[in-house]
Amino acid sequence: MSKLLEVKDLKVSFHTYAGEVQSVRGVSFNLDKGETLAIVGESGCGKTITSKSIMRLIPTPPGEIKEGSQIIFEGKDILKMDNKELRKLRGESISMIFQDPMTSLNPTMKIGKQIAESLIIHRGMDKKEALEESVKILKLVNIPNAEKRINQYPHEFSGGMRQRAMIAIALACNPKILIADEPTTALDVTIQAQIMDLIKSLQDKIGMGVILITHDLGVVASVATKIQVMYAGKIIERGFTEEIFSNPKHPYTWALLQSVPRLETEHKNELYSIKGTPPDLLKPPAGCPFASRCEYCMEICKEQMPEVSKITDNHSVHCWLQHPLAPKVNMPESLGGAF
Ligand code: SF4
Repeated sequence: MSKLLEVKDLKVSFHTYAGEVQSVRGVSFNLDKGETLAIVGESGCGKTITSKSIMRLIPTPPGEIKEGSQIIFEGKDILKMDNKELRKLRGESISMIFQDPMTSLNPTMKIGKQIAESLIIHRGMDKKEALEESVKILKLVNIPNAEKRINQYPHEFSGGMRQRAMIAIALACNPKILIADEPTTALDVTIQAQIMDLIKSLQDKIGMGVILITHDLGVVASVATKIQVMYAGKIIERGFTEEIFSNPKHPYTWALLQSVPRLETEHKNELYSIKGTPPDLLKPPAGCPFASRCEYCMEICKEQMPEVSKITDNHSVHCWLQHPLAPKVNMPESLGGAF
């Protein structure tokens, strides 16, 4: 597969009255054409800041993308683009959808006009062509009565339809990359599944790369090609989806997997929740950031950040338990064979 995007050593801080909050601390990853990469972690772990950095949507100040960070798209560093290049990038190459559709829909403008506008600006269509294309795009995202719906305002759409309309706007210019930040959190389970299926089928049709940001590993099981788990501004485990589900190696990933509801464990166990809170990123710990919440924590964990351990060519983890001298620990039994 060919590389669409390369994020290299991304570091993002926010300057506050209390000091510098190091929200993203040296994140690197690639996205290939046609693949779906899920970035998973609790809120505040840096996943949304990472995706907003790709779109250059970090307000500066108080935000600061640190010197040495690189985000390479088609051979160019997004972090060095001027405003004209950025407008083109956001309009034509990379689109983002958010948890709340009203953050990207204009409540005072008809849906059809909102889609048509970006087609006129970025694909050079005239008004008539753009409105016809808007109907086609609304049909593509399964909006019934698209010819009628283009003349309606966002408040006349249900929550699920607004989400679809937002996806329609994001897809209007056939982006090469779609960043979806918690796109289904506010929706009920049936609509969630429909939206995820829709993103997947559109991806198969137009071959875009997708970055899916979520706190819920359950959402990504059927759609993601690769998963990277973030904690306290760092990627602590990454691998192909099957490997992360069948052979997770980081205690935090175990905990996330245990908090996914499964049919066979329903009524038997309470859903697992991770005790404690993530570290304060005003003063990140020197050792493993998960140490204060980890039931396997050893002395070395508090002192030194674990180096990367390769489990397979495509699966790696930062945890001292993978060191050859570490005590052997089995993953929690309730996970065995569950995926
Ligand atoms: Fe737990 Fe230590 Fe592994 Fe961190 S490095 S996850 S504290 S065992």
